[in-house]
Amino acid sequence: MTAVDPVPGEAGSIADPRSYASGAFDDHRPPDAALLGDCVHCGFCLPTCPTYVLWGEEMDSPRGRLYLMKEGLDGAPLDDAMVEHWDNCLGCMSCVTACPSGVRYDTLIEQTRAQVERHHERPMREKALRGLVFALFPHPGRLRLLRGPIRALQRTGLDRALRRRVTKPGGLLERMAPHLAAMERLTPPLQPAERMPARIPAQGTRRATVAMITGCVQDAFFPEVNAATARVLAAEGCEVVVPAHQGCCGALSVHNGREEEAQRYARAMIDTFEKADAAHGLDGVDYVVINAAGCGSTLKDYTRLLADDPAYASRAAAFQGKVRDIAEVLDELGPAAERHPLPLTVAYHDACHLAHAQGVRAQPRRLLAGIPGLEVREIADPEICCGSAGVYSILHPEAAAELGRRKAAAIVDTGAEVLVTANPGCLLQVASSIPASADLGAHAMGMAHLVEVLDASIRGLAPDRLRSARSTDTS
Ligand code: SF4
Ligand code: SF4
Repeated sequence: MTAVDPVPGEAGSIADPRSYASGAFDDHRPPDAALLGDCVHCGFCLPTCPTYVLWGEEMDSPRGRLYLMKEGLDGAPLDDAMVEHWDNCLGCMSCVTACPSGVRYDTLIEQTRAQVERHHERPMREKALRGLVFALFPHPGRLRLLRGPIRALQRTGLDRALRRRVTKPGGLLERMAPHLAAMERLTPPLQPAERMPARIPAQGTRRATVAMITGCVQDAFFPEVNAATARVLAAEGCEVVVPAHQGCCGALSVHNGREEEAQRYARAMIDTFEKADAAHGLDGVDYVVINAAGCGSTLKDYTRLLADDPAYASRAAAFQGKVRDIAEVLDELGPAAERHPLPLTVAYHDACHLAHAQGVRAQPRRLLAGIPGLEVREIADPEICCGSAGVYSILHPEAAAELGRRKAAAIVDTGAEVLVTANPGCLLQVASSIPASADLGAHAMGMAHLVEVLDASIRGLAPDRLRSARSTDTS
């Protein structure tokens, strides 16, 4: 089937929206029939869909998944095959960018996944894996507890010995427990944690007050990115407030259909940030800033997530109105701190949840272009996901690994010395994919978050710091 063939036997059926609540779905937010009706089956989204690119299967394309949602609304029962096609979706939202008809696939897959979680009985093994993942990743405190043992393994070199013998691709752990092997491969070299003070004063004239979200994976595995974010904001004239006892924003839960859990996290996040400024509450801060793209897209959608909650609906709107990605804040404010030359070639990777879900593409590039001596190179096929997609790389390790290999090859092809992105998941995925792509010509390169590059320029650090940052070992 080509990219523009219609789905067999269903011509016109999606374009006939009615109000349903039957078949696969219950009455609580079923996939919106009117939104499904926007799809004209043109197929323009297909070449941008990573799973369609991998497998060439209509039902693993956005159009196929929309067709299955319509089938469910029309009365088809929820079956394993249907769920598998929806589960295979990375939620990268590349199809939303590509669609000329404005189909809100993002809303539709979120509605569908919540229904799947309520009504589909997963096999025991899968339930156990998902239970483990969700008992760990949305809990910054539990992730922080892992830092000690991981750093001990890394300091003694035991991690490398284990990787050579047990956890390497095709090794024992991958054959026995591929999901655990994926978790191990994704674990980055940990640097000493930098403690974040509760308030960091602005340097020079104060231009804004920002409250900072520290995240879960970002806080545990990349605390140096949070420290760099606060330094850059302060250097640019922002007073930075870092509320204590932050929890998860709910992004992982939303993306995996765990609606009630996501709502609980969102309410707690709003409660915490309403107290961010002791004197004025949320009104006392100009922005709530986030440096993780996957979290940002969920934080900017709290109004919809909490729409049915009378106690939180308007507070969610007030909170959401202040949320910005770090690149948006810095670009909007414009540079105040001097940029020192950074003679370096970097490849900028668009995180899906920044580019497709938030439309933030130009701002990071403008910020990089403002650094003297820095050359930015573009990566081929930028719309195709690297395979990280939150916990997708753990739940679907094979597909994620193949997408990672392809992305790694495209990144290395740029000839850049350092890969720059704005999402911790992408950093983990690309750093683990480059060593696995040595056969495609991949070689070691540095990995950095956008704010680390800005921080290095503002502080006048040597470019070698970035060339060796999280350097990917291909030996
Ligand atoms: S989702 Fe959009 S791009 Fe894809 S088939 Fe439907 S109308 Fe075309
Ligand atoms: S969100 Fe990404 S993986 Fe899912 S259907 Fe759209 S393009 Fe494909």
